[in-house]
Amino acid sequence: MTMGTTNKPVALVTGGSKGIGRAICVEMAKSGYQVVINYLSDTDGARETLAQVSQVGGNGICAQFDVSDYAASQTALQTIFSTFPSMDVLVNNAGRIADELFIMMTQDKWRSVIDLTLQGFYNVTRPVLEKMVVQKRGAVVSIASVAGIMGNRGQANYAAAKAGLIGASRSVASEVARLGIRVNVVAPGLIQTDMIHDAPVQKIKGLIPMARLGTAEEVARVVRFLCSEDAAYVTGQVISVNGGMF
Ligand code: NAP
Repeated sequence: MTMGTTNKPVALVTGGSKGIGRAICVEMAKSGYQVVINYLSDTDGARETLAQVSQVGGNGICAQFDVSDYAASQTALQTIFSTFPSMDVLVNNAGRIADELFIMMTQDKWRSVIDLTLQGFYNVTRPVLEKMVVQKRGAVVSIASVAGIMGNRGQANYAAAKAGLIGASRSVASEVARLGIRVNVVAPGLIQTDMIHDAPVQKIKGLIPMARLGTAEEVARVVRFLCSEDAAYVTGQVISVNGGMF
């Protein structure tokens, strides 16, 4: 573990142990950020992300906590805030699917996806924003999904959660815009990660104008742009990264 230093900005990325979150951690490290790599259960994956962050000349720490657990999140964030002097970027990336046709969907499947996405947004974003408000700067990017815009068969829970993330982000963006803080959303289409392991990829490719899946790095580069000064006048927006799907 490399501890925080005073001279580099800090990015907290939830769900950084693999997939899109890992690519975001590496991309932010390349841009000069210290990275706090949150994860739930995959310690080896988080350590691998930290190794990749180091390989590109960055530093950071791994921070295990369940973003859907209010008490655990507050405790972990206090430790992170005492380790790092500033909090410049938050990427709400942690996510999961629990697909089922709505009529068959158990309360547990409904609740687990909503809780992770929306309680997770509240549990982490609110305290981070408190810090950003004092700093009078910061950028928050949340990872939604094409499903949150278009809906998707078998994903009523996921689509509802991601649509909620968009509504919450747009609302918060308007509340903090005058305080130097920008809040945006990236809505990926189908991205090659563990999450879509069981998806009917060949069938879905037919629905994508570019006729291919996206990569985690292609999402990460858009996140990095939204966190940068190049996006200084961009807030409250939803940027789709989906190969041309409508
Ligand atoms: P992934 O490979 O399954 O990774 C999910 C990450 O979220 C892991 O790091 C996991 O940690 C973490 N996580 C899960 N529950 C958590 C919790 N309660 N607290 C903290 N961390 C938690 O997924 P991905 O494909 O990279 O997806 C990343 C984001 O992009 C998600 O929000 C997803 O909904 C969104 N997205 C993905 C796609 C796609 O096609 N892949 C498309 C649209 C949107 P552990 O590994 O430690 O459990």
